[in-house]
Amino acid sequence: MSPKSTDALSRLTNALKVLPNVGPKTAQRMAYELLQHKRAGAEELVAAIQAALLQVHHCRLCNTFCESELCDICANEQRDPKRLMIVHMPVDVASMEAANCHDGLYFVLMGQVSPAQGADLKAIALDKLITRLQEHEVDEVIIATSFTADGNATAYILSQLLADFPAKITRLAHGMPLGGELEYVDAGTLAQAVYERRNIK
Ligand SMILES: [Zn+2]
Repeated sequence: MSPKSTDALSRLTNALKVLPNVGPKTAQRMAYELLQHKRAGAEELVAAIQAALLQVHHCRLCNTFCESELCDICANEQRDPKRLMIVHMPVDVASMEAANCHDGLYFVLMGQVSPAQGADLKAIALDKLITRLQEHEVDEVIIATSFTADGNATAYILSQLLADFPAKITRLAHGMPLGGELEYVDAGTLAQAVYERRNIK
């Protein structure tokens, strides 16, 4: 057996384990599949990952993924800059935009605080959020985290953190299904939860 080819295969298998929910067995199956049947697809995958790593950054204002200094929403002067909605992930921005119920701007935490995993505050972009709020005054902060244990914990931490900021703090109404991730909630329910949001402060 050639040690070199074994090394490359092991390296690929190990590298694939970086993907979410991919353990050693799945990684090995993926590696075999790529090498046996999907060589063209594998080349495109490599090129796409390299391009994304070079080109995709975080928006200076809202922290979502984008390929310029500001994302399209932050750069849009038609949006209301005084209303800031805080969400977990870029997919939540997409859900809100699809529901067409928020004309303000967003801030994307890029994660959530998970009490079951030690409640690590570094899982969310708190420093960037504070800087954002200090540099651009807002009238209302809408906490639009999901109604899961982690989403509730994140909302609680945000409400504590924002208590001293001179802005109204609201959270989505509980019309949302319990345990609901925003991305799985239909647009009508999501819009209702935004319209009926309740004051925290
Ligand atoms: Zn942005």
